[in-house]
Amino acid sequence: GDKRLEDLTVEDTTCGYCAVGCRFDVYTDGDEVLATRPTEPEKSPVNGISTCVKGKFTYDFVDSEGRLTTPLVRDENGEFREASWDEAYERVVEGFQDIKEEYGGSAMSMIASSKATNEENYLMGKFARQVLGTNTVDNCNRLCHSSTVAGLARTYGYGAASVSTEDFEQADAIFLTGSNTTEAHPVLATRIKQHVKDGKELVVFDPREVQIAEYATQYTEVRPGFDQVWINGLVRYIIENDLYDEEFVEERTRGIDQVREAVQEFTPDYVEEVTGVTPEELKSAAETITSNDRVVFGWTLGLTEHSHGTENIMAMANLAAITGNLGKPGTGVSPFRGQNNVQGGGGDMGPLPDNFPGYQSITDEENRKKFEEAWDCEIDPEPGFYTTEMFLAANEDELQGMYCIGENPSLSEPGSNHASEVLEEMEFLVVQDLFLNDTAKYADVVLPACSFLEKTGTFTNTDRRVQMVKQVIDPKGDSKTDWEILQDLANRMGREWDYDNTAEIMEEMRQLTPIYGGITQERVEEEGGLQWPCYDLDHPGTERLYTEEFNTEDGLAHLQAVGYNEPGELPDEDYPLSLTTGRVLYQYHTGTMTHPEEGIQGYNDRDFVEINPEDAADYGIEDGDLVTLESRRGEITVPAQVTARIGSGTVFAPIHFAETCVNKLTDSERLDPHARTPEFKVSAVRVTPVEGE
Ligand code: SF4
Repeated sequence: GDKRLEDLTVEDTTCGYCAVGCRFDVYTDGDEVLATRPTEPEKSPVNGISTCVKGKFTYDFVDSEGRLTTPLVRDENGEFREASWDEAYERVVEGFQDIKEEYGGSAMSMIASSKATNEENYLMGKFARQVLGTNTVDNCNRLCHSSTVAGLARTYGYGAASVSTEDFEQADAIFLTGSNTTEAHPVLATRIKQHVKDGKELVVFDPREVQIAEYATQYTEVRPGFDQVWINGLVRYIIENDLYDEEFVEERTRGIDQVREAVQEFTPDYVEEVTGVTPEELKSAAETITSNDRVVFGWTLGLTEHSHGTENIMAMANLAAITGNLGKPGTGVSPFRGQNNVQGGGGDMGPLPDNFPGYQSITDEENRKKFEEAWDCEIDPEPGFYTTEMFLAANEDELQGMYCIGENPSLSEPGSNHASEVLEEMEFLVVQDLFLNDTAKYADVVLPACSFLEKTGTFTNTDRRVQMVKQVIDPKGDSKTDWEILQDLANRMGREWDYDNTAEIMEEMRQLTPIYGGITQERVEEEGGLQWPCYDLDHPGTERLYTEEFNTEDGLAHLQAVGYNEPGELPDEDYPLSLTTGRVLYQYHTGTMTHPEEGIQGYNDRDFVEINPEDAADYGIEDGDLVTLESRRGEITVPAQVTARIGSGTVFAPIHFAETCVNKLTDSERLDPHARTPEFKVSAVRVTPVEGE
């Protein structure tokens, strides 16, 4: 363009899309993002010199037509009109206070945003408990990796990746399941592919032959919903054939006898019958895992978004532990987190119904006392509702108000028709976002927030690495950062919050949160990121968990006996196919950030359904035909993509567009009993060609 480089400012920041946590320099004139470039390698340990299409180019959303720049309130006719911050704040305060007075604080709920910074998420948890007086505060982790958190916490102690990204490069073999890594975590996929090209092994188990499977030394197709069966089958094979790491099991774990007994029934023949994985495939995978010294196990939502996701994770945790693949370089477990800050904002910072920051349980009296004192408020010992439960509790009239920040539950919740009804009936709903998203349609007040390019703070990536986010452009219009809005509201509701910047918020948080005890913004900036646990200012942070001990009372990994739980809904005569859902490279979640980007819509501007050629022939469907996809809960119409990438009996649809919201088909009631994660990955459906097509 006509702008000269020396007139531009450059600031390094962390990507606001996915949790790989790439860092880059942003070139701006203070108003617009003009270019991005990977920052110097010491400041970008995860991506080095790479970024993906989203991190590199997808910034039109910041200034797109739909960007909210002033608060909106409903007028007498129920239409939105622009309002001053004063007026909007007054409405919000009145609305929240009315609910509190009439029904009590616990009738209020809050959905926090994993797109926002750690500092802001700390304040969201504090706001819920101190200002609103409710423990019902949760976030998108419930829809994705909360079963990972629950499963790993039970076995190893921390609900997080044990590894750093570097471990993938030190591994001799990588085992991936339920992860479309290339499209959902592009830069990580690039690193893995490079490693495989250098001669290392990669095993992929997945219902779809996702792109990374092309690089695999073994790709095995599985039926969705039966992961416990083949994972237990691997564990059984390894134990039966004495291929497990006896020394590690003896010294560092307990529970092997219960596991040995629990996996007895998962013989190779049984595994084949239930999952389609042949005895040869099972044996070959078991041998790859046990013949290599160092193996990393990676997964995403294909393993977690089930009505028994926690069991899947515990089975996987057993597999890594019995093969001794923990605590050493090039070994470990790595749940790839989705949203840029779901590890930090969605978990570590504790905008959660049952935990304070740093996974300190609210049911523990000492923890409660500590936070009651620090926050000067009373905290109910009873945990609040998880996100998925909020939408069920609202049915029972237990929730009357919601404050929803940077989330879009009307599209992202399972059984979205039901979620939308709940939002519509909510007595008072405040939406705080960059856009008038689908959920905002039901709001009483809409508050315009800032994007990550307009604020300073920290994000924590998928390897527990806290990294700096820096303001590179001015807030658009009258928009404000989430922390400023929360502070203004808290003060209007009788509290005295007095933060001048987010470093002060971080300071308060770290003093209450042992695993973040030594993490200050100053150190994060100077040291180019810091990984938790980092207990005090002299602690160097933790690259790899469990090198000496697990985070359990006895320091051992607690192996868990996992049996077999059938998926909640299996195909039958009326709905003969199994639907699984997921993502594509060019889009991001419900699309609020990627849809405004004209450049990428040419690649992917609508949802679709993938169907195997055999099934397509049975139903008289050809590639490109419009089809109706229907479950017991709803239907959508999308074009068919006939492809052998997906196995026969299974169909796949992405989640990105409101008009074809695939969550109309998923079920809001089938939840994981431990983590309350919905079963996004298995729904019984039927497919019919649209007449006249
Ligand atoms: Fe951003 Fe993730 Fe792409 Fe990296 S891989 S640039 S963090 S979206």
